[in-house]
Amino acid sequence: MTTIFGKIIRGELPAEKVFENERILAIKDLYPVAPVHLLIMPKKAFPNLQSVPPDEAPLLAEIFSVAQKLANDFHIEGGYRLLTNNGADAGQAVFHLHFHLIGGKHLGPIA
Ligand code: AMP
Repeated sequence: MTTIFGKIIRGELPAEKVFENERILAIKDLYPVAPVHLLIMPKKAFPNLQSVPPDEAPLLAEIFSVAQKLANDFHIEGGYRLLTNNGADAGQAVFHLHFHLIGGKHLGPIA
């Protein structure tokens, strides 16, 4: 299924890229909820975390490493949130796996 993020990965839609390698792309969220709001996603399309097979664990680990690097790059290593919305009940809007990296202000309780 084609999604907005699939189009961004393929270069068919613009985005502000903050990290890219062969497997992973990170962009700025178009509608940020905090001073730093990045989206980290695999280029390979999985609808969400629940659909990632166990043998893709190295890819998930690499996404977490990219999150650490970006937290340093954006100077939020002292406090940030890394989250994924899995499924409609969680408010997932784009069904291409992505992790929100959010920080740069006091975030308060999760819910
Ligand atoms: P989610 O609800 O977890 O699926 O989050 C989707 C996120 O994508 C939201 O935070 C949106 O603000 C963001 N978003 C939607 N369209 C774009 C776009 N074209 N470029 C960057 N971020 C986007």
